[in-house]
Amino acid sequence: MSKVAVYIEMKEGEVRKQVFEVLTFAHRGGSDVCGIVLEGDAEGCKGSLEEYGVSSIIQVKSNALANYDPGVYADAAIAALKHSGADSLLALTSAQGKDLLPRIAAKLKLPLIMDATVVNVAESSVVKSHFSGRANAEISLSGDLKLFGVRPNSVDPEAKAANATVESIDVDLSSDRRVVLKEVVKKEKLGKVELTEAKIIMSGGRAIGSAENFSMIFECAKHIGAAVGASRAAVDSGYAPHEMQVGQTGKTVSPNVYIACGISGAVQHFAGMKTSKVIVAINKNPDAPIFNKCDYGIVGDIFDVVPELSKVFQELS
Ligand code: FAD
Repeated sequence: MSKVAVYIEMKEGEVRKQVFEVLTFAHRGGSDVCGIVLEGDAEGCKGSLEEYGVSSIIQVKSNALANYDPGVYADAAIAALKHSGADSLLALTSAQGKDLLPRIAAKLKLPLIMDATVVNVAESSVVKSHFSGRANAEISLSGDLKLFGVRPNSVDPEAKAANATVESIDVDLSSDRRVVLKEVVKKEKLGKVELTEAKIIMSGGRAIGSAENFSMIFECAKHIGAAVGASRAAVDSGYAPHEMQVGQTGKTVSPNVYIACGISGAVQHFAGMKTSKVIVAINKNPDAPIFNKCDYGIVGDIFDVVPELSKVFQELS
């Protein structure tokens, strides 16, 4: 039986919830699923991993893994991957995954497909969006070991009960490195919900007009537990920081609901949110391109519509 390794990305001591989506692709084809844990305690997350088909866990324990350090994590993941005997490695195409997977691929001189929206492990193939979301490509990899990154929110997690063994391995991570992590300084969080993990996102475009006006979007978003995003025009105008940018040169998101406020619907913006399940657009121009791409459209001024929505959401919450 084939074996799939999944990199278990953690967040604040817990398994990142979108890892369960990655595990869903991993166990769907009936393969043995091995979880690779580099931070935290594998015993502590064993129960939740077992619910999603993980039948073995390999943990690399080392003080060098206390904080995410790309070179160290890549070496540790490679050691665990080789130890597992798996023929594929899956991980999230998260900020960390985007940093880690290419390093693993480069070190192992292996091809890598990032940001897949569907992974068929049995066929070693994926579906991936191309040309700013205008086309989907089906790509297959061959070879003894295949590396895949999975776009967050691409699939609803499917449980599959398993009993997992936990094995700790020692890996020498002491080699000289060109980059040495000295300190981790956490930035103040912009909102309670991280953009790429959010089930609901409200984004503001150039029409917001100022950084202060973004508070209208944050106020409305808080009533529905939404994260707040921005178009590039809003970011370039200094209304929002780059980490809020959605699109081709920003973050890729796939929420259940995406509410675009004063965003025209340029193809580069669409590239980052087209896999949203439901798209709602608010725009005062009835001919705005976004109205050809949304499920629900409200023709109106955001400064009238958003405060009204805020009131309704508050009443319902
Ligand atoms: P605009 O296009 O100016 O649209 C503003 C909209 O607001 C208009 O439709 C207008 O009718 C409406 N409006 C105005 N006032 C109101 C009001 N009071 N109430 C309601 N509606 C109102 N863009 C991204 O977003 N993300 C990316 O990652 C990205 N990457 C890019 C990469 C490249 C290589 C290039 C060339 C471009 C990229 N862009 C990206 C830019 C993209 O092409 C657009 O310029 C950008 O998305 C436009 O942002 P916007 O819709 O906020 O602004």
